[in-house]
Amino acid sequence: MPYYICKTCGVQHAQTVNPPNSCLICDDERQYIHPDGQSWTTLEDMREKENLQNILKSGETLNMKPGLDLYRLGGHFKGGAVLHWSNGNEGKGCLLTGDVITVAADRNWVSFMYSYPNLIPLPASKVEEIAAKVKPLQFNRIYNAFSKVVRENAGEAVQHSAVRYIKALNSELFHT
Ligand SMILES: [Zn+2]
Repeated sequence: MPYYICKTCGVQHAQTVNPPNSCLICDDERQYIHPDGQSWTTLEDMREKENLQNILKSGETLNMKPGLDLYRLGGHFKGGAVLHWSNGNEGKGCLLTGDVITVAADRNWVSFMYSYPNLIPLPASKVEEIAAKVKPLQFNRIYNAFSKVVRENAGEAVQHSAVRYIKALNSELFHT
């Protein structure tokens, strides 16, 4: 009996004979159901089609190999993690952030959201925590999950973007 894996979010569900009717994650307001509808795969299918390694583990940090470390930041999802590649960008360091930290339209700022599809922000305390967790990491560049890049000074971009975000939440940035 297979464990079905949602093709949109990648979450594996309980063992069932037939694919589940819906995905618990994609039904959540932080996710979305693909416009083509719900679709499923299994680990066996993926192993046949692609050479994938399952790296899911628990904890706050995980060393993948020398110079590659995962850091759990949470925020968008409790398990939301970023990958620090210390030798990336010619030794200046890269942070691969998925959508835990997203790159803004002008590529000089970043942002943070609880739900991107439904545009629900994160609390100030969580944004502060995310910024504090990445502050000690050496990186100059950020790649997000949607082909957007902060090419230079990305560490500073996270810090000043967190300050701006919190000011906006606290009505200190603008009045409309
Ligand atoms: Zn899903």
